[in-house]
Amino acid sequence: MAERITAEQRRIVVERANGCCEYCRSQARFATQSFSVEHITPKGRGGNTTLENLALACQGCNNFKFIKTEARDPLSGKSVSLYHPRNQKWRAHFSWNDDYTLIVGLTPSGRATVEALHLNRDELVNLRQILYAMGEHPPLERE
Ligand SMILES: [Zn+2]
Repeated sequence: MAERITAEQRRIVVERANGCCEYCRSQARFATQSFSVEHITPKGRGGNTTLENLALACQGCNNFKFIKTEARDPLSGKSVSLYHPRNQKWRAHFSWNDDYTLIVGLTPSGRATVEALHLNRDELVNLRQILYAMGEHPPLERE
């Protein structure tokens, strides 16, 4: 029953995500911990080990997401679905602030995800500042 993520699936997920965390947009090449291929809908909640349910996530986002699929939108207080990297486009739900250090949620899902996954963790903000100064941030969006 336990479906393992295959090496081929992992390769496709990393390539599809362009080596970036699909939530906080961190780049694996500037991370000290290896990224995880995570189940967007957790296996315990019926999520399958298929490419449509897999996403690349940094350790921080993966840890904060854990088995969550919903979180509170800080604006409305309502519980909403977290951002879904396969069914939704990052740029439709998030944007950067003026100096590209902070991710701003644009929609209920976007705002809930920024909070629940702590997408503006201090260490990420510090790294974004340095990488921006070096011309390495933000990562290019594929579309
Ligand atoms: Zn992340």
